[in-house]
Amino acid sequence: MSGFLFDELIFGPVHSRRLGVSLGINLLPIDNKYCNFNCIYCECGWTDRSKGVKIILPKRDNFKTKLETKLKELQGTVNEPDAITFAGNGEPTIHPKFAEIIDDTIEARNKYAPKAAISILSNASMLHKPSVTTALKKVDKNILKLDSAIESTYKAINQAQSGITLNKIIDGLLSFEGKLIIQTLFFRGEYDGKIVDNTTETEVDAWLDVIEKVKPEYVMLYPIDRGTPAKNLEKISESELNEIASRVEARGISAKVY
Ligand code: SF4
Repeated sequence: MSGFLFDELIFGPVHSRRLGVSLGINLLPIDNKYCNFNCIYCECGWTDRSKGVKIILPKRDNFKTKLETKLKELQGTVNEPDAITFAGNGEPTIHPKFAEIIDDTIEARNKYAPKAAISILSNASMLHKPSVTTALKKVDKNILKLDSAIESTYKAINQAQSGITLNKIIDGLLSFEGKLIIQTLFFRGEYDGKIVDNTTETEVDAWLDVIEKVKPEYVMLYPIDRGTPAKNLEKISESELNEIASRVEARGISAKVY
């Protein structure tokens, strides 16, 4: 698998445009991407679904010790984090101890970095699991993915594991009652002999209808930024993203273009 991978459990802090001084958490393996999606634009590369791939996830106790050590080290310095952000080499909510790890993170944050907001970037695929949703609702910022509101396009873009349907995801997003942020990557291209394009009129209309129902705090709109595993994908222009953003705003919801 080729692609960009984080090689640590806790990385940074980095100065992030959207989050300020952000300490990153990678709950996934450091040498492999681990995700229940296989997005054709994923900057980590393709998901390897072959059996026999050894997946080593960080242990809860090890994570807790490392996080506390790092936060103590940063306490009172210019790098004391504004944000603790779960991102990394795949989908953080599939870690079997995700709920407990969130509790540990909140405890450590309260002790050593009380101004830091805890953010999670997630593909929203595990929202049917009450333990995951309960844990997510304890954090400050849930940044949840929705690349299309049309099942066939969602399947073509995100290539989720079987059983993860768009309807399930949307039901999960609705359960946040507006206390969430939606992130969407807009692009067009061709993959596996088919056109994939979530920027068409039909696509954007369907997506806007769902956004209006979900009522997020705001929507983050992205273009492709790094290399993608599918080769024929096109980065759309900033003006196109701004045009979509203005249509979000017209529905009474804030939108930010990155
Ligand atoms: S959900 Fe995120 S990590 Fe998983 S394949 Fe898609 S972009 Fe990559």
